[in-house]
Amino acid sequence: MKPAVIYILGTGHSGSTILQYLLAGRPNIIGLGEVRQLTDRRNWRQGLVEPCSCGAAVETCSLWGDLEPVAAELSVDWYKRVLSKVSILYPGTTHLVDSSKSTKSIHPWLKLLDEDLISGIHALYLVRDVRGWAVSDETTRKRKGRPPQPLFLSMVDWWKNQKLFLRFLKTNEKNIAFLTVSYESLIFRTDAQLSRIADFVGINGDQFNWEDGLKKAVVHDVWGNRMKNDFSTRSRLTYDDRWQYRMSASLPAILLFPIWRMNQKLRRDGGLI
Ligand SMILES: [Zn+2]
Repeated sequence: MKPAVIYILGTGHSGSTILQYLLAGRPNIIGLGEVRQLTDRRNWRQGLVEPCSCGAAVETCSLWGDLEPVAAELSVDWYKRVLSKVSILYPGTTHLVDSSKSTKSIHPWLKLLDEDLISGIHALYLVRDVRGWAVSDETTRKRKGRPPQPLFLSMVDWWKNQKLFLRFLKTNEKNIAFLTVSYESLIFRTDAQLSRIADFVGINGDQFNWEDGLKKAVVHDVWGNRMKNDFSTRSRLTYDDRWQYRMSASLPAILLFPIWRMNQKLRRDGGLI
């Protein structure tokens, strides 16, 4: 059976880890994490690779263990090796989830689709409310030791990024099918959002117990955020509401009108309203 690929697009810290776990909680869907990071040999060489979310070190992980790219290997050939390893380990797989998020890293999958090695590509464009995103960006900057910046500048970054994603989705020559998914909707209207996604990617839309699924999800994610290695946080849905207590998060979002308009549009498209 040829699997289809569910490709998560969007800016970092928009909830891709929890989305991947919700998807991979279903039978026959396997989460591969941020696949693009593993195509770079330097990431293996320099020991930057973290433990896999399955609990094993990447070298001993049942999936990634022997998939280090060899010198001068074309990335499309490496993706083929990943595909065949998945089919050996998980023969009934219908869907793979790649949470690489960038527009560039969808291209190897497009080549595999051209060669008829996968049955389709479904892009999920994940968007988070600009206020929550900016406050989360501030925390990430602090944690990673990056220079701080005012929240309104992070909002401008958010806006520029969404423009790039929207342009890619509208103008790419392959006409990739995509569904906009609001992170807030995923948290607050989980059943409705998951059945919307199930329809889009063509999986059985029967009532699915996602709470159970979150505990059983099969995910081999080496590069995702810290949550992927923490069973207690990744196995339940929580909403980070810090932005609601920050005046400086709400005010500029409303004053910077193009950003506000984009935020409203994406909320609508993402199924929140
Ligand atoms: Zn693993």
